[in-house]
Amino acid sequence: MPQLIFDGNIDNEHSLFNYFKTPTEDNGSSRVPVNNLEPQHQLQFYQDTLKQLTNELLQVEDELSNIRYILAASSDPILITDPDAKIIYVNPAWEKLTGYFIDEVIGNNPKILQSGKTPRVVFKKMWQALSKNLPFSTEEVIDKRKDGTEYQIYSAYFPVTKNGRTLYYVQIQHDITERKKLEDLKGQFLSMAAHELKTPITTLKLLSQAHLAKYKKFGADQISNEELELMNKELNRLVRLIDDVLDDARIENGKLNLKLEVIDLNELTKNVVTKMSQIATNHKIIFSGSPKLPAIADEQRIEQVLINLITNAIRYSKPNSRIEVSLKQVKNQIRIAVKDYGVGISPDKFTSIFERFYQVNNHSNTGFGLGLYISKEIIDAHKGKIWVESEINTGSIFYFSIPLLKA
Ligand code: ADP
Repeated sequence: MPQLIFDGNIDNEHSLFNYFKTPTEDNGSSRVPVNNLEPQHQLQFYQDTLKQLTNELLQVEDELSNIRYILAASSDPILITDPDAKIIYVNPAWEKLTGYFIDEVIGNNPKILQSGKTPRVVFKKMWQALSKNLPFSTEEVIDKRKDGTEYQIYSAYFPVTKNGRTLYYVQIQHDITERKKLEDLKGQFLSMAAHELKTPITTLKLLSQAHLAKYKKFGADQISNEELELMNKELNRLVRLIDDVLDDARIENGKLNLKLEVIDLNELTKNVVTKMSQIATNHKIIFSGSPKLPAIADEQRIEQVLINLITNAIRYSKPNSRIEVSLKQVKNQIRIAVKDYGVGISPDKFTSIFERFYQVNNHSNTGFGLGLYISKEIIDAHKGKIWVESEINTGSIFYFSIPLLKA
């Protein structure tokens, strides 16, 4: 019997499909048309051919389903269209990214995803490349999900062709929304950092020049305490900003090393409140604790979190308003709360305020949007939790908890 070989190429002259056009059977050195054979041999030939064809088809089907498995296993979204740009396949990663199910999009044009924010020139360049059977890639596509939210993707498009004819267009995507967001934030951060650092430096420079002139003319007596305090305040602000940037770099490099020891959190919090009350004379900071709440913690880092939260409470509330710092045991945790009666935060910002560089409004004269991010990293490193409850124009309570050291 002849060997039927299906090599996947439907134009190959030895292919299964061509074989049916002019069925022949090898007979020694020559190939004999099947029609010339005895009827029982003809029947046998067709039975064998059919069997072989079935096997071949099963194998092709197997290979196709393997390809489907490979596409489905990809963690990057994949979309395939026919030559008329109608969607014929999307993988589960694509469904997850866009919120659409495969059945909802089959037959549609990928235009359904357009947000209107992708520069038109991108699509123009894409079609120019694809029409010449060339691949094209871009980081400029901003699409929208089924729920209307937007995402930015790296997209690689390539045509699948056969004998010069386009069969499919394949688009492999990679979600770069977070990376782009961070890049934007970093850009904003750099210009903000330059501005924020320049302000205290300029003030310090002017003050020190004025003091020097006064000192030379009238001696040290003429320099008032207020003037020196102002310099001290600006210097502290500068140091705090630089510390935040350094801590941010430590976190990035995984080097926020804790110096763990047994500390009494009640004592530490009380001391921080006393210290802050002396500085922030425009606010009433009230402490209520519970004796002996030991924890294994880094004293300086927990103090830093407390200072961050109390400083924010001062910053975002009116002078003379109360700030309540309390501490209690809740199950096997020590829970600390810093409550203010200030501007408050809307619930949709409760998560983002703990993100790197995030600021609700660009308040001037504050920080870099790093304080809560660093605080969260510190508390996470203590296997604790930090969160907020707040209402706009009523005030906020920032909580954090860390494990209590059992006696
Ligand atoms: P920043 O140094 O800019 O204050 P943070 O990370 O400390 O950065 O805070 C992030 C944002 O969270 C702030 O820009 C502010 O809008 C908001 N926020 C923090 N604490 C409070 C608070 N107690 N009351 C109201 N808003 C707050």
